[in-house]
Amino acid sequence: MRLLLMGPPGAGKGTQAIVLAGQLGVPHISTGDIFRANVGQGTPLGVEAKRYMDAGEYVPDDVTNAMVRDRLAASDCATGFLLDGYPRTLDQVAYLDSVLGETGTRLDLVAELTVDLDEVVQRLVRRAAEQGRSDDTEEVIRRRLAVYFEQTAPLIESYESRGILVRIDGMGAVADVTQRLASVIADRN
Ligand code: AMP
Repeated sequence: MRLLLMGPPGAGKGTQAIVLAGQLGVPHISTGDIFRANVGQGTPLGVEAKRYMDAGEYVPDDVTNAMVRDRLAASDCATGFLLDGYPRTLDQVAYLDSVLGETGTRLDLVAELTVDLDEVVQRLVRRAAEQGRSDDTEEVIRRRLAVYFEQTAPLIESYESRGILVRIDGMGAVADVTQRLASVIADRN
């Protein structure tokens, strides 16, 4: 199954994606994690990405698209994957469509985690304290949310019009949200 998990920063996508990918036996592809790994290793990609990440802005599409293209070409993605945090712009949607189209495949399901925005900001502030992420200061959190609503929220309508979008309540205990996601995925499988 080829899945995409969507939702604003702090909605719990990463946490859910790790569990679900394990249950489904598909790779979890998080562009944020790949960027952070590159930042940690000091690669040229990491140096470039960090400038944008620290400002709460998106890394340019050409950089992000090329990185995802390489990752999706790996053999572990041949039968399915769980995308987390990509695509985030309409250009990335078109690019992903074309990459998948080359192998005659497409996304099967897009799950949007819906959350209470006040709760999201609190989660992000907590995560900043726990993990020390340099893009989790309050100012950057606000910018990341604004960028999400400007650039990424429109993707939801686009996937909805294809009939592959499901909305899942992302509030409550982590295990309860996982259960909601797993049952929707099982219905579609
Ligand atoms: P995340 O961990 O998914 O919240 O991503 C952290 C940061 O990495 C984002 O705020 C962006 O700066 C960058 N990033 C991750 N995924 C993308 C993407 N698909 N397009 C552009 N920038 C991205």
